[in-house]
Amino acid sequence: MKYQNNLAFAKQQDKEDTLSYVRNRFHIPKDENGNDWLYFTGNSLGLQPKSTKEYINQELDDWANLGVEGHFEAKNPWLNYHELLTDKMAKIVGAKPVEVVVMNTLTANLHLLMVSFYRPTKSKYKIVIESDAFPSDRYAVQSQLKFHGFSEEDVIEWKPREGEYLLNIEDLETIVSKQGDEIALLLIGGVNYYTGQFLDLKKIAAIGHSKNCIVGIDLAHGAGNVQPNLHDSGVDFAAWCTYKYLNSGPGSLGGVFVHEKHAKKKELPRFAGWWNHNKETRFNMRMPFDVMEGAEGWQLSNPPILSMAAIKASLDLFDEVGMDALIEKSEKLTGYFEYLINEIDSDDIKIITPSNPNERGCQLSIQVKNADKSLHKKLTEKHVITDWREPNVIRCAPTPMYTSFEDVYQMVSILKGLL
Ligand SMILES: *Cc1c(COP(=O)(O)O)cnc(C)c1O
Repeated sequence: MKYQNNLAFAKQQDKEDTLSYVRNRFHIPKDENGNDWLYFTGNSLGLQPKSTKEYINQELDDWANLGVEGHFEAKNPWLNYHELLTDKMAKIVGAKPVEVVVMNTLTANLHLLMVSFYRPTKSKYKIVIESDAFPSDRYAVQSQLKFHGFSEEDVIEWKPREGEYLLNIEDLETIVSKQGDEIALLLIGGVNYYTGQFLDLKKIAAIGHSKNCIVGIDLAHGAGNVQPNLHDSGVDFAAWCTYKYLNSGPGSLGGVFVHEKHAKKKELPRFAGWWNHNKETRFNMRMPFDVMEGAEGWQLSNPPILSMAAIKASLDLFDEVGMDALIEKSEKLTGYFEYLINEIDSDDIKIITPSNPNERGCQLSIQVKNADKSLHKKLTEKHVITDWREPNVIRCAPTPMYTSFEDVYQMVSILKGLL
């Protein structure tokens, strides 16, 4: 696509954008003059769909009017409420419904999945992560190692090469071919939170499986942003949150994927509660534990319906819009963003995200010279909302749901003015 560096072009793109109507389905925060913020942090906390309040109010009303009867009598009975989310969530991540469940929160889910899928032996126990893994993931794997009597040192880091920022799949191949006999698990961020690099999950799965390592994916920055095709990728498990691109509110519940090949393995070690027990006999209360098949077999507790209502509001909107259309817009919008930043021609900033659209989602990570944090601060003062990540990156995500081409144009004009 041929882009142009002027406002008229941006406005024309918005006119031609078949998804431009979706912005109006969201609450966009405003400045003191009533102008919309330029919100580029949908990768951190997605904005609120206008329908969310109505979905939550439905549950509040049902609770007020029905009390405990709401489990069966609510408009959307609470007992099986999570099932209302499964098909739509499965579509978003390219999975079969049996492979997906919404439950708990991300880091808690990673631990629950590692209970089943990180089964170290004396000789095969190490865990591979990216060197720039999100801190919570690093702490989670370190604590799993220690829990099993190993050391934090037993984490192997997949690092970018000297002088580079991005990961090279060949280096993962080298790590696994040399040390694979000692490696039990690969736990990799499908889209890296820092650089925005979208990795080839199918290749990662093949590399891990070639040496009998389990492959898990943290999809926090992927879900609702890229199409990870989890089922086809062949990875063993994945987990993600719903408050970033999935716009379901702060601290909302996470999503879990367990590949179909593990769906019927009832013998897999796991933690149990009444919610992964057979639905048919759950309320008989005195039955021996009988685990459910598929991803539902990792639930423990009856879930928070108010959070699920917010997730339902968002997933209904995703379903209406469709991931394919969203990704098509995302590629154009982020391509435009990249083009405009490159037009600035300043030595003070540099994009470190891959320029190949197949290797990124909508986020661009801009490295700032001499780690000058004041640039981020000045952007914020002008209601351009981005986020600063140590040591020297401003992350910006023009999420296709509610960001316009004009937003992108205005954002880069302000950035240019500040440089
Ligand atoms: C956002 C994010 C988290 C946050 O974990 P929570 O358990 O939801 O607080 C963890 N890992 C990655 C990769 C993330 O991007």
